[in-house]
Amino acid sequence: MKNSVFPARPVMIGSEIYRNSRYGEGHPLSIERVTPVTDLTFLLGWADSQVFVDSPCATPEMISRYHDADYVAAVQHAEKYQSVPEYFRDRYNLGTHGNPIFPEVYTRPATAAGASILAGKMLSEQTEGIIYSIGGGTHHAQKAKASGFCFFNDIVLGILEMLDNGIERVLYVDLDAHHGDGVQDAFVDDDRVFTISIHEEGRWPRTGDLTDRSSGAARNLPVPKGFNDSELNEIILKAILPLGLRFRPEAIVIQMGCDGLADDPQSKLELSNLALWKALKHLTQLASRVLVVGGGGYNPWATARAWSGVWATLNNIDPVINLPLEATDVLKSLTWKHSRGRNPPQHWYYSIADKPNCGIVRDAILTIIEEVLK
Ligand SMILES: [Zn+2]
Repeated sequence: MKNSVFPARPVMIGSEIYRNSRYGEGHPLSIERVTPVTDLTFLLGWADSQVFVDSPCATPEMISRYHDADYVAAVQHAEKYQSVPEYFRDRYNLGTHGNPIFPEVYTRPATAAGASILAGKMLSEQTEGIIYSIGGGTHHAQKAKASGFCFFNDIVLGILEMLDNGIERVLYVDLDAHHGDGVQDAFVDDDRVFTISIHEEGRWPRTGDLTDRSSGAARNLPVPKGFNDSELNEIILKAILPLGLRFRPEAIVIQMGCDGLADDPQSKLELSNLALWKALKHLTQLASRVLVVGGGGYNPWATARAWSGVWATLNNIDPVINLPLEATDVLKSLTWKHSRGRNPPQHWYYSIADKPNCGIVRDAILTIIEEVLK
C-alpha cells in the first residue's frame, strides 16, 4: 500500500467469510457481526474501496508463530473432517459447547489472524497509522487450546508481528466485558508488552483480579455490574491514560469487544456505545500506531451499530445521525434467536448511537483507580 493512502486515512480490514459463517444453532456467535459493519459504513459513505483491505487467511506456519503446531493441525483436522476424536476435546478444548466444530472452524479464525498479522506488519512499516480489523479480537485463545469461542489469538499474533518487525513497546487495552486472559498470558514474560483489561468482576473466565499484575506488565480493572458511561470515562481519564503515558508505547492495540453494552445479553454492564467511542477517542491519543480489533458482541444490532461507530470515530465522523432507508434495511435484515430479539426497539433500526447512560461514579470505581495506579 502506498504512503499516499496509508497512513493518511484509517484502513479497514474485513472479509466476506463472516457473512454466512455461523458457530452453529444456539451458540451466541451464530449472528452476523462483521459484514453489517462493512455494509453500513460503505452505505453511509464512511468507508470505500480505497481504505478497505480484504483479509488474507493466515497459513498454519504463520499461526504457529504463537500457537503450538500440533494444536493448529488439530483445528485444520476439525475443519476437514467436521469432527474430532475424543482426546482432541480434552486436550485442545475443541468440539465443546463453547468452541464447536463448524464449517469454517479453521478458515474463519485463520482469517482473523491473517488480518491482525497484516495490520501488525503494515503498522511496523510506518511511523503512524490507524487500522481497524473488525473480525479480530479473539482474546481468550490460548497457546495450545481453544477457549471462550476463540480458536487462534489474532491479537497475540498481530502484536508479535509488530515486535518481530522492530516495534519495542506495545500497549494493549481490552474493553471487552470479559478479561483479556489469553493476551495477558501470552506476554507474561515479555516486558515489551503492557496489557490492561477492563472487565466485569466475577464473570467468566473469572481471572483478572484487581491485584493481578501478571509478571508486572499487566493491570486489571474488574468493574461491578451496572457499570455506566461516567464510570468508564472516569477510568479512562484517571487510570488508563496515566498508565499508558507512563509506558510510552510505540503502538497501541485496542480490543473493542462491545459485550459491555447495556443491550448485550452476555454481561451485566450497562454502557452506551457513546461511552465506548469516547474511550476509543482518548486511547488513540496514546500512540501514533493504532490497531483496533473487535471482540465480544452478542446482540447483532448493538454490535453492528457500535462497531460502525468505531469506524466513524477513527475517521472523526460524527456517528449521531438519522439513518437513510438503505442503512435501516441493513439493520432490519439482521436476525437474532434470542428473547430480546423478538421485538427490537426502534432505535436498533433507526440510529447508530445509543442514548447516553451517565450516572454516579461509585466508590468501587474510585478504589479500582487508586489501586491500579499504585
Ligand atoms: Zn467478551
